[in-house]
Parts: sequence; C-alpha cells; structure tokens
Amino acid sequence: MTDSEALYLDAAATEPVSRDVIDAMTPFMTDAYANPASVHQPGRTAARALDAARASFAADLGAKPDDVIFTSGGTESDNLAVKGIAMARMRQLGLGNVGVDDFGDAPGATQTDFRRPRIIISSIEHPAVSGSADWLARWFGFDVVRIPVDGEAHIDLDALDRALDGEAGERTTLVAMMLANNEVGSVEPVERIVSIAHAHHVPVHVDAVQAAGFIPIRMRDWDVDSLAVSGHKFGAPKGLGALLVRGRTPIEPIISGGGQERGLRSGTQNVAGAVALAIALRRSNTRMAAHYRELVASRDMLIDAVRRVVPRAELTGDPERRLPGHVSFVFPGVTGEALLVDLDARGIACSSGSACAIGRHEIPPTLLAMGIEPQIAKSALRMTFREPLTRVDIERISLAIEESYTALTKR
Ligand code: PLP
Repeated sequence: MTDSEALYLDAAATEPVSRDVIDAMTPFMTDAYANPASVHQPGRTAARALDAARASFAADLGAKPDDVIFTSGGTESDNLAVKGIAMARMRQLGLGNVGVDDFGDAPGATQTDFRRPRIIISSIEHPAVSGSADWLARWFGFDVVRIPVDGEAHIDLDALDRALDGEAGERTTLVAMMLANNEVGSVEPVERIVSIAHAHHVPVHVDAVQAAGFIPIRMRDWDVDSLAVSGHKFGAPKGLGALLVRGRTPIEPIISGGGQERGLRSGTQNVAGAVALAIALRRSNTRMAAHYRELVASRDMLIDAVRRVVPRAELTGDPERRLPGHVSFVFPGVTGEALLVDLDARGIACSSGSACAIGRHEIPPTLLAMGIEPQIAKSALRMTFREPLTRVDIERISLAIEESYTALTKR
C-alpha cells in the first residue's frame, strides 16, 4: 500500500497546509518581506497586511483586532495566559512573595504576610496548561486545584463553584479550562464556566486549540478573558498561533524584548504566518459551516460501524456534545498502541489518544480522570478527521479495525 492510499485520521494532531494558504503567505516572505515595525513604505505595506490578518482572524473568533496576540502556537499561548495572568493577578491581589516584597517597607510587613496564590484548572487539561500551573506551584508556591470531570469528561460545575467560595476563592488568580478535549472530543460548557468564575471575580482562560475552526467560537459573546488557538490544527503551518486576550485582563509578558504585540509577545512579527493563520481559519470556518452536518453524520456512522464490528468496544467522551470529526474508543483486550501500529500497517493512520502521550507511551490522562481503569484506558484509539468520511472510507476503516482486533486478541 502506498502512502497516497493511506487514510489520515489524525487531524487532531495536525492538518496539512493547503496550496491557497501557501500562495497567500508566500508574497510576505519574498516581495513584501519588510519588518512591519519599519517606518519606510515596504514596512508600512507589511504592517497593513498584519493589521488585515489580525482583523480577519479576530472576527472569525468573535473577538476584536486588539485582542489578538500572535504567538508560536498553542503551547506558547497557554503558557502566556496561565503564567502571565496568574502572575499579574498575584501582584494585583497582593498574594505570595510579590505582595511581601512590594510592601516590604510597610511597617510590620514580614514573611508571615504570605498569602498563598491559587489557580484552578480541570483534571483533563493539556500539559501546556497543567504544566504551566505546576510551574507556578514550583516557583511561586501556588496551590493548583484540579476540578474533576464526570464519565463523559465534562467538568464538574458544582465543584468549580465550591472551589471558588470563601477565603480560598479570594486567593484565586485564574480559572483555566479547555473548550474541547483533545483525547475524547467532549465540548465543555464554557459560558457556564465563565459565569461561575466571574461571579467570584476570577478571570477565565480557555484553551480552544482543538475547537478553533471546527465549532463556532464567540470569545466576546462568551465573555472569556483569554483564549488560546494553534494554527496547525486548522491548516496553517506549524509553529503559529495566537492568544486572544481582552484589554481588561491583567497579564504580564513572559518574553521580554522590543514590545511587539501590545508588549505581550516581543519579537519581530511573522507577517506571512499571520496571513496564513487568517486565511486558514477563514477557510476552516467556511468549510465547517458548509459540511458540519455531513461531518457529524459520518462521525456517527463510523461510531456505529465500530460498535458493530467490535461489540466490546466502548465510545469514550460525550456521544453528542463532542467535536464533529472526533471518534474515540477503548478496545478492551488489546493495547491502543498495538492497535494503531497494526492499523497503520493496513493504511489507517490514527492515534492512541493525545499526540503527546504517544511518544511517552503514557496512559491517556483524560481517560484516567474520567474514572476509566488504567488497563482499559491503555486500549484507547482516536480517529479524527476534518472532511466528512465516505461510506467507502467507513467500510474500509471498520473492516481494518475488525481484522486488527481479531488478530491482536488471538495472539
Ligand atoms: N492544547 C490542546 C488542547 C492541544 O490539543 C494542543 C496540541 O495538541 C496544544 C494545546 C498545544 O498546541 P501546539 O501544538 O500548537 O503547541
């Protein structure tokens, strides 16, 4: 089987860059290559392209152009939001050592004034968020509170409300949660999360990396304070992304330099990259608007087909409130790793969970947080796609799964 015949079902890991995105960005590396900060005419041309890209990108996420901070991708955007907002709020609220140092001259101020800062995340966050929260714990003594999820990976909203109550709530700098889960595709109720957190005067960061371009995002309507997206998930080149952050939200930069991007992300801007982000997101949103129902129908057909060929297989995540092109199962009796290697040999490229978990052969952490036994969680398989699958595709995938599963369980 040649590569061209392989079925790529790992869109949640990354997507290809289309020819029109490459064509749109190329002139900003060849002809209109100037630094957008330069005052000469070529510089102003580049700056205009950057402004236009920013405006289009913001509009497609329900945001304002000034909200957009271009970054190197989802990981950087999550780091900037989680570390940057938590640190700024720590200062604002006079928490941690920052408060003690600042008011060190005040009569009677001592280390005993230390009030421990806090950050609330969910138990299913990507390492870009959870690792940033752990970093805050290591370096600034933050308490990291992880809100549990239910068996469909939905965040426990009552637990969130309780965690924000009283004295501990007053020490909370930020609530950071994802819009759509990378491993099981469940979509979280962001508006309700925001209304709970805002009732306690705590800002909310949303990791929308898996959602942008696939479900509608209305950052301002949802009253979200900051939102991270990553270009390579919706057809821009890798190493590009953005953090959308409202002017009202306190935030410290984590990169120092020339003060580009409202001083929040120094470094000469990648104009071609910004153009690619804007074009790719517009394309992805347009495609989604046109094919959403078809994509959902083909997802549900694939789910039914898998259940038919392997009755022991169990769908993970929410059957309805999930990303349109996301199918995830556990296959008791095999490991996801063995299954995906066998399927790969049959020309079906999928994943055993999150892209990060594969390299380290980890048990998919979201499944553990959902209360699935480790032995079962190890049998996870994820199939993600951006175009509707055809009946022929679905037959081919389900036949391959049936054959792989039968072969592996016979060994
Ligand atoms: N957040 C989530 C939910 C993701 O799925 C990913 C990548 O898979 C990231 C953040 C990191 O994004 P990037 O690959 O652009 O660094």
